[in-house]
Amino acid sequence: MFQDDSSDFEWVCSLEDPNLKNEFSGFEMRLIVSVGDEDFLEYLKNWEQDNNRIVESGKMVMVLEEADVFRDHIEIDTNKIKGLVEYDDSQASSEILERRSLAASTGIHTTLVLRVSLQDKAPPSAVNLSEDIFGDQYCLKSQMSRCSYGKLEIKEYRQGDRCNVPTATNAPGVVDISVPWNTFNHNKDDVEDEVIRIAKEEIFGTSSLRNCADLVMICMPPGLGSFVAYAYLGHYISVYNNHWCQSLSAQMHEVGHSISLHHSGQYGGGSSEQEYGDKQGYMGYSYNQDDTPAMCYNAAKNYQLGWYEGKEGEIDPYTDLCTGPTRFMLNGVVDYQNGSPGAYVTLKVGGFWYLGFNKASGFNVGTQEAKNQVTIHKKEGSVTSASKSKIEADLSVAQSYALEISSDLDLLVVYVELENGKDAVVELSVSGSAAMACPSEAPTDAPTDEPTDNPTDKPTDELTDAPVEPPSNAPVEPTNAPVDPTNAPVEPTNAPVEPPTNAPVEPTNAPVNPTNAPVEPTNAPVQPTNAPVDPPSYRCVDRGLPRAWNGGGRFNCAFYKKRKSRQMCKHNFLFCHKILSSH
Ligand SMILES: [Zn+2]
Repeated sequence: MFQDDSSDFEWVCSLEDPNLKNEFSGFEMRLIVSVGDEDFLEYLKNWEQDNNRIVESGKMVMVLEEADVFRDHIEIDTNKIKGLVEYDDSQASSEILERRSLAASTGIHTTLVLRVSLQDKAPPSAVNLSEDIFGDQYCLKSQMSRCSYGKLEIKEYRQGDRCNVPTATNAPGVVDISVPWNTFNHNKDDVEDEVIRIAKEEIFGTSSLRNCADLVMICMPPGLGSFVAYAYLGHYISVYNNHWCQSLSAQMHEVGHSISLHHSGQYGGGSSEQEYGDKQGYMGYSYNQDDTPAMCYNAAKNYQLGWYEGKEGEIDPYTDLCTGPTRFMLNGVVDYQNGSPGAYVTLKVGGFWYLGFNKASGFNVGTQEAKNQVTIHKKEGSVTSASKSKIEADLSVAQSYALEISSDLDLLVVYVELENGKDAVVELSVSGSAAMACPSEAPTDAPTDEPTDNPTDKPTDELTDAPVEPPSNAPVEPTNAPVDPTNAPVEPTNAPVEPPTNAPVEPTNAPVNPTNAPVEPTNAPVQPTNAPVDPPSYRCVDRGLPRAWNGGGRFNCAFYKKRKSRQMCKHNFLFCHKILSSH
């Protein structure tokens, strides 16, 4: 069940209690670092196995006995975790409820773009950013509206709607933020923190930017590393590197994360091809192009999004399918509103499989893979789980694919034909010890050629039970031998513009240094006068190191002030999100 054991993410926490948040300088997110015997990821993996479910980013609360809160991370001893629980709406604050609702993939989302300039570098102009995100014929706003048929509307932030800060001149939705730093001695994480702090405290004067917008997109200047963009699953902030803020596919990908979509890949594993290799939709690779490619999301995501009401089908292969073929019709997302009766935009089969027809036309004309093919995806967890999907197969007409539903049931998918240029007809059947025989079939083709002409072949005097073949339940599988179960990546040479370089942006995530912790200040209750025992301590963080790759061998040693004493957050709630560090 645990899908995310690759190294593409880390976990961060946000304190939900506003008072605590203030006490810890109002931060939004802190990286979770585990101390003690058990690794935090290991803990989560075990939790998933024990509970037979996925840890849900943005939807669960971690309850802790205590944690140590530092400038840039939170240290957690897994022995001090009391549990992971669902949000309890009845007990949640209005802020939590508001944030929960953000994970929704429907509704109107006011979107604020923070255009970040440092002293030495600036991203594209506010006017350009505004056009590329809200104005162009193909941009985040217009494409999200098309793909969702208006169920998710991106609305640019405007002065006076929810907050009174003006936008940049002629740039609806965009607010300029200047950070009085240089890029060469800061990294994207520091800048993200500082931008949010400045925006909240100095510009908007609010405890949370959520008061002003449902989604916040931070457009960073160049010079902060080679990343493309990143976001938090189910959380309202996404961050873009320079011109990637203008890229339609990067916008749709990162905002996709904000509405709880995870990556679309090919097989399990950690390579970029495996992670992003389902190029049908935006949760695969992103492309360094302003207005293309025009596409949407794959069938697994489409079910999760809930945008295609009435065209979402679900069948139980144990009870709804039998050993003979059952027909279904699939439509592409572009035909949602003019599809044929009974056709599905996404058809869920069993717990984890989703079928769709990837019609490449209209606003999906730019799909990068499996054009006009029937596609089969697998996504674990519940329908709404923010888990990865992988592509199982792309089928052309007359091709078929067999997959194992479980040890006692196999599913065969046959793409029979395309009707009316839009209705992809598929036949599904099952086999295996748990497969149901088709009730209507067996009795009808009874022995029609009885021994009516009996005595013709005489040598055998006895009545041999003649009909050797007919009663055998009809040809179950019309010779559709699985044509090519190895759906070879269509065009491997189609080198995705960016991917390999942006993986290792910050592998060395903040030196953990558990040994660095001042040994238990509580341990010395002797004299209160003993105050300055634990003076502000500093630690040297070589966060400049990853940038040495593209910074001419520079080694920066930035100093961060550590909190003076160990902070105990007893029984406090941490709001957990999964951060996608690479993109
Ligand atoms: Zn991503």
